[in-house]
Amino acid sequence: MSGSPIWHPFTQHGLGEPIPLVTRAEGAVLTTQDGRRIIDAISSWWVTTHGHSHPRIMAAIAEQAGRLDQIIFAGWTHEPAETVARELVRVTPPALSRVFFSDSGSTCVEVALKMALGYWRNRGEARQRVIVMEHSYHGDTIGAMSVGARGVFNRAYEPLLFDVTTIPFPAPGREQATLDALAAACADAAALIVEPLVLGAGGMLVYSAGVLAEMRAVCAAHGTLFIADEVMTGWGRTGTLLACEQAGVVPDLLCLSKGLTGGAVPLAVTLATEAIFDAHWSSDRSRMFFHSSSYTANPIACAAAAANLAIWRDEPVLERVATLAARQRVRLDAVARLPGVHNPRALGTIAALEIGDPAGAYLSDIGPRLLGFFRERDLLLRPLGNTVYVMPPYCIDEDQLDAVYAAIGQAAARFGGAE
Ligand SMILES: *Cc1c(COP(=O)(O)O)cnc(C)c1O
Repeated sequence: MSGSPIWHPFTQHGLGEPIPLVTRAEGAVLTTQDGRRIIDAISSWWVTTHGHSHPRIMAAIAEQAGRLDQIIFAGWTHEPAETVARELVRVTPPALSRVFFSDSGSTCVEVALKMALGYWRNRGEARQRVIVMEHSYHGDTIGAMSVGARGVFNRAYEPLLFDVTTIPFPAPGREQATLDALAAACADAAALIVEPLVLGAGGMLVYSAGVLAEMRAVCAAHGTLFIADEVMTGWGRTGTLLACEQAGVVPDLLCLSKGLTGGAVPLAVTLATEAIFDAHWSSDRSRMFFHSSSYTANPIACAAAAANLAIWRDEPVLERVATLAARQRVRLDAVARLPGVHNPRALGTIAALEIGDPAGAYLSDIGPRLLGFFRERDLLLRPLGNTVYVMPPYCIDEDQLDAVYAAIGQAAARFGGAE
C-alpha cells in the first residue's frame, strides 16, 4: 500500500501499520482483498447497527439512485426527506417537532450550537456561553472540537477553539459536584451539550440516568437549552432507541447521525423544539437559520435512512439489542475475572474494560500493540489507548462474540501486567 496517495484519518503513517483493503462487507464480517474474513466488533466506528449491507437498506439506495440523485434543499424538497422527517418526529418525543438535515455527527452538533446561539440572539438575550462535560467528544470540526475535551487530539488547534465552561464528569459518588457546577454555570449560559449516559471517544465512560435527569432539570430551571448529542448513543446502542429515554429526558435539541442510515451512508439530523424554530421564524430574512451544506438531505442518503426507520418500525430491533446485550454481559463477566482486566462496564450493546493500567490513557504504549494483536486474529477492535471496547452490529452471532472475547482474554494475559 506504500504507493497510495491516501492520507488516512486518525492514522500515524509513520508507524507503518498495514492498511487492509476491504472488498466486501456483510452482517458482522468484512472481507479483505487477500481473502481474510474479519469480525467487525466496533460496527465500523460505531455506525453499523443492523449489520453491513443490510438488504432492505441496499435496495432502498439502489431504487432511489435510479430516480433522483441530488437536489438543492434550500426551498426544495423530496419524498425521502419528508418520510424521514415525519418518521423521526413520530419516534422521538413530541416536543421535538422540527428536523434539520446535515451530513455528519460533527455537522449536526455545529447546527445544534448555531441554533442555540441563534435562539438567544433572536430573542434579544445575551446568552452565548456553552457548558460542556469533562471528557466529552462531539466531533472534529472547529466548533465540535471547542465543545469537546481538550488534549492531544486538538492541542495544535487550541488557538482556534472558543471558550466553554466545563463541568466535571459525574462519576459514581461524585454526581453532586457535577450538578453544583452546572447550576453555577447555568444562569447566563446558552446551552449545555452532553452525550447521554456514556461518553464514547472519552473512553466509554458510563454515568447514571438519575444524574442525567437531574442535569436536565437544572437546565430547565435556568432556561438553559439542553443539547443531547446522541450521535453514538442513538439507534439502540444503549438498549433503547435513544439513551435519553432511560432518564425520561426530553432535550431541546437532539443530534443524530451514525446509525441514522443503519450505518450505510453519511447523513445527520438535528431535531429542535418548536420554540427554537419559532425564534427563527419571521418575515425578516436576517433572522433565518443561516446554515446549509451542498448535500443537505441528499435523497439517496435519506432513502437509506427511511429504510432504516422502516426496519425499526417493522422488525423487533430492540429485542435483538436486548439479546446482544445479554450475550455480551455473560462474556464480559467472564473476562472481568481475569488478572489485568479493570473496570468492566456495559450499557446496552456497549461493553468496555481497561487492560493493564486501570486509569486508562489514550497514548498508552499498549494501545498500538493491542491493535496489532487483534488484527492478527482477524478482529476489528480499535482500543482507545488501553481501553478495549466491543460495540458490534446487532446481528453478530454467538460464535463471533466468542472469538472476540477469547481474544480479549488472551490480550489481558499478554498485556495485563505489562504496563
Ligand atoms: C462520532 C461522534 C461525533 C462525530 O460524528 P462524525 O460523523 O464523526 O463527525 C459526534 N458526537 C459523538 C457523541 C460521536 O460519537
